[in-house]
Amino acid sequence: YKVVVTDYEFQTLKPEQEVLSPLNVDFVVAQCYTEEEVIAVCKDADAIINQYAPISAKVIDQLEKCKVISRYGVGVNTVDVDAATEKGIIVANVTDYSVDEVSDHALALLLSLARKIVKLNDEVKSGVWNFNVGKPIYRLRGRTLGLVGFGRIPQALAKKAQSLGLYVIAYDPYIPAKVARQFNVHLVELNDLFRQSDYISVHAPLTKETKGMISDEQFHLAKKELIIVNTARGPVIDESSLIRALQDGKISGAGLDVTEYEPIHPDNPLLQMENVVITPHIAWYSEESEMELKRKTAQNVADVLSG
Ligand code: NAD
Repeated sequence: YKVVVTDYEFQTLKPEQEVLSPLNVDFVVAQCYTEEEVIAVCKDADAIINQYAPISAKVIDQLEKCKVISRYGVGVNTVDVDAATEKGIIVANVTDYSVDEVSDHALALLLSLARKIVKLNDEVKSGVWNFNVGKPIYRLRGRTLGLVGFGRIPQALAKKAQSLGLYVIAYDPYIPAKVARQFNVHLVELNDLFRQSDYISVHAPLTKETKGMISDEQFHLAKKELIIVNTARGPVIDESSLIRALQDGKISGAGLDVTEYEPIHPDNPLLQMENVVITPHIAWYSEESEMELKRKTAQNVADVLSG
C-alpha cells in the first residue's frame, strides 16, 4: 500500500510505522501546501494521513484508489468530508488522545491567573520582591467555575476543579441533565453562566453556532473578577469583545491556548496585557499524548486497509 503523509510537524514516524508495518506499507512523506501539490503526491495513494494540507473536493476528485483519509487530531476542517463520503472514502479523526492534557492545561492557565503566577514571576525577575504587586488574590475554595461545553475535556476538568473546592456549573444544550448530575454539575443557560461564574473555561467545539457565541453581551453580564480560559478554539470567543472587556475592566483576566488567528498577530493588544496568559495551542501535548495521537491516526488507516 502507498500511504502518503501530506504534511508533518512531528519528528518521528516510528509509531505510525510500527502500527502499519504488518501491512507492508510504503510511506511517502511530503510537505504539501496547495491542492496541486496534494494531487501530485496522492493521486495513486491507498491512504492519506493529513494535518494541514487542503484535501478539497478538487483533490478528492483526482484520487484514483484512496480508501481512507486519516487526520491527526479532532478537527476534520482540512477535508471536504461530503466529497470524500460521496466517493466512498472514509474520513477518520482521533478524538480522545489528550483529555488529561487539555483539562490540566485549562486548570494551569486558571491557577496561574488566579494566583498571579506569571505577573509575580515577571516582577521578581525584574528585581521586585513585594507581594503587594499581586493583590488582590482570592481564595479558590467556594468559588464557581462555569464550563462552556460539557464534553470529555470539561468533564475531566470538573473533577479536578471540584477537588480544589470549586462549585462547577456548565452550559451545554446537547448534554442530558442526567450526565451533568453524575458529575455533580449543574446545567445553566449561557448568560446565567456568565452572571454566576467567578471563573469560566471554554470547551465548546467551533461550529457555525458557536463562532463568536461569547461576545459583548456575555461580558457585560460577567463579574468584574471573572477569569476566562479558552483551550477550545479561538473564534468561539469574539476576540474584539474580549479585548474590550479586558481593557474596560469588565473582567479581570484571560488564559488563552487558542486565539482567533494562529499564530497571534504581533500587534494584538492581548500581548501587552499583564492579566492575559497565552500559550501556543499546546494544551493537547505531552510526550505520551503525541505518541497516542500518532498511533491512533495510523491505526485508523490500518483498520480500513485491512478491511
Ligand atoms: P467533545 O466532543 O467530547 O464534547 C463537545 C461538547 O460540546 C459536547 O458535549 C457538545 O454537546 C458540546 N457543544 C456542542 N455545541 C455546543 C454549543 N453550541 N454550546 C455549548 N456546548 C456545545 O469535545 P472535547 O473532547 O471536550 O473537546 C472540546 C474542544 O476542545 C474540541 O472541540 C477542540 O476544539 C478543543 N481541543 C483543543 C485542544 C488544544 O490543544 N487546545 C486539544 C483537544 C481539543
